[in-house]
Amino acid sequence: MRLTEDPHRRLNPLTKEWVLVSPHRATRPWQGEVAHLNTAGEPAYDPSCYLCPGNARVGGTRNPAYTSTFVFDNDFAALKAATEPERLDVGGRGLLVAQGEPGVCRVVCFSPRHDLTLATMSAQEIEPVVQTWMEQFRELAAVENINHIQVFENRGAMMGASNPHPHCQVWATASLPVEPGKELAAQRAYQQKYDRCLLCDYIGVEQHEGQRLLFENDGFITVVPFWAVWPFEVLVCSRRHLGSMNDFTPEEARHLSDMLHRVTSTYDRIFGVPFPYSMGFHQLPTDGERHPEWHFHAHFYPPLLRSATIRKFMVGFEMLGNPQRDITPEIVAARLRELAGG
Ligand SMILES: [Zn+2]
Ligand SMILES: [Zn+2]
Ligand SMILES: [Zn+2]
Repeated sequence: MRLTEDPHRRLNPLTKEWVLVSPHRATRPWQGEVAHLNTAGEPAYDPSCYLCPGNARVGGTRNPAYTSTFVFDNDFAALKAATEPERLDVGGRGLLVAQGEPGVCRVVCFSPRHDLTLATMSAQEIEPVVQTWMEQFRELAAVENINHIQVFENRGAMMGASNPHPHCQVWATASLPVEPGKELAAQRAYQQKYDRCLLCDYIGVEQHEGQRLLFENDGFITVVPFWAVWPFEVLVCSRRHLGSMNDFTPEEARHLSDMLHRVTSTYDRIFGVPFPYSMGFHQLPTDGERHPEWHFHAHFYPPLLRSATIRKFMVGFEMLGNPQRDITPEIVAARLRELAGG
């Protein structure tokens, strides 16, 4: 089988899901167009932004005049801490099942500056953001009934982020959500079978092969994963076998800042626009178990396909069968390495 020419399926070993790859359809190896959109123009402070320092949020609370990062409980939280984790099974046959979900939703502003993004902040400016994520993880992990902490950023209007002010969300839940649930099962099964870590082994393979490798520093390794679904999807893994940000050394916190800066600033060069994405960290469940199988990592899922305005849609076969892509992860990795160097 020729991975560069023949239609084939690739397995995501973290989720056990498949992606269909059709490299023969990518007739031109690279179709990127650099846009000349007017993207300048966000002010450093926007009086109508509910995240800017000193401004009032919907509901009336006024933000402090913060000068670094700023964390607050989401005013329209999807979860409430006082919810009872009660289970319902109407009829008792597992057909109408529901469960109460206690949880906490917070917003983390990365900077008082309305006009910055992770891509335009320096690695040094991202460090307080990483420190804040570490504090949030420690604090929420200690809360009874919180068994999983999801930090995620939706960036860009295309991903539904209506406010350009640099920020992310933290959703802490009693139950383990679906995606980390799949990854937990896969990492545990791998460890039981081989007595080794799935992602430690995967990183080793990617370092050996080299073609999907993007960036390395002393703390982290970034690849376009072999099984990537989104055209420009990347996976950031800690070099050491760490379960969460709780295990970071001060150096590793700095190395993560550097890696996030490199990934996001390279993204912005692909089409010459602020690159939209959803990203987030997958860390071990905070259910009181040790979880030696879990390996800290971050996923970036950007929606863009061919230009600043053409996005990939997950429709048709992808909704009813499984995801599909044309351009291979290997070609994307080569292009991203070029952009990062130039
Ligand atoms: Zn703002
Ligand atoms: Zn590992
Ligand atoms: Zn993951």
